[in-house]
Amino acid sequence: MNRRKLGQTDLELSLMGLGGFHLVELLFEDAVRLVNRYLDLGGNYLETAESYGHGDSERKIGEVLKTRRRECVVATKSRSRTAKEVLQSIDGSLRRLQTNWIDLFFIHEFNRYEVLDEVSASDGALEGIEKAKKAGKIRYVAFSNHVTPEVAEKALELYPFDALMIPLNYFDRFNFPGWEERVIPLAQSKGAGILAMKVFADGFLWRNTEAALRYTLSLPVSCLVLGANTEEYLQKDMMLVEQLIPMSEEEKERWFFDAPELGQYVCRQCGKCLPCPQGIDIPRVFLLEGQYDRQMKDDLVRDPAEYALRDRLRFWFGNQDYAQKIYASLVPSALACNQCGECEPRCPYGLPIMRKLTIAHEKLTDHRPPGYTRIF
Ligand code: SF4
Ligand code: SF4
Repeated sequence: MNRRKLGQTDLELSLMGLGGFHLVELLFEDAVRLVNRYLDLGGNYLETAESYGHGDSERKIGEVLKTRRRECVVATKSRSRTAKEVLQSIDGSLRRLQTNWIDLFFIHEFNRYEVLDEVSASDGALEGIEKAKKAGKIRYVAFSNHVTPEVAEKALELYPFDALMIPLNYFDRFNFPGWEERVIPLAQSKGAGILAMKVFADGFLWRNTEAALRYTLSLPVSCLVLGANTEEYLQKDMMLVEQLIPMSEEEKERWFFDAPELGQYVCRQCGKCLPCPQGIDIPRVFLLEGQYDRQMKDDLVRDPAEYALRDRLRFWFGNQDYAQKIYASLVPSALACNQCGECEPRCPYGLPIMRKLTIAHEKLTDHRPPGYTRIF
């Protein structure tokens, strides 16, 4: 399988990495067989986290590393925020992974501004990470962030991270456009390697996996980290990643019109609906709706499987409070819409802007617990 250099490190990663999250769904022997199969097929990037199954994923990968360590680039992650805790985490991971060193160590879920303060404090995680580096326990340092490009930008300014892993797919690009617009260029300017996660938007793009892969392959990434829980899917994904041609810019523009998951609901952030005589920043409201629930709930009647999938994935990032807090300071809010109808004919994607503003406002001001079902 083709390999790409990770930023300015000396690591060469296979274009498809194996994410260890789904290994927790498998029996021990089956997981070990799957990891071995991935290596046999030419993959070399194994990624896991201490939190995946409370170490279960690391233990399964460790069984393979016992005999094949030199064939692999090994990455793991920790949510520890203090020096003491992160050093304990690293030792635990090394033990479960049955290795003496971790190639790429991630600060996991670097999603909030508070994490910046915690990890950079005296006795914060970065101090522990530096100690672990000096002791030869880890080689390179990275972070993962799922929902806040603005925090990722700050993180890249805070510390010379060697790499970062962010969600990159043709659906969430409209919910979190900052990844492509700001974070990727900044990471490139700093020489940090970029790993793509959530290429299939947590399975939401399952009907269009080739388009999803082609889209993310078009971005300047070193590796697409994909999970697999059967050898069949693993083999298929590896073959596709190797063979598919990245989407061209023209193809992308067409796909943004045609992609069924975007349909006539997801705002493409083109701004053509503006100006609104009431001064509503329409794209901004929909951007916050995307950050709230990925614009997945559109109040349309759907088949039960599709409904259940959307309902499961819409709060996957747990970002509701963050989006609601920002919306609370947005003036004017969507409520200012007087239904004049000027904006809708201007939207090239046929979005029902007035109806969608009502839905977005309801979401962004709904402070009931997630999962609350309205029955009256
Ligand atoms: S319909 Fe509402 S959002 Fe659209 S232009 Fe008129 S006031 Fe603005
Ligand atoms: S024109 Fe449509 S897609 Fe473009 S920003 Fe406005 S609502 Fe979104």
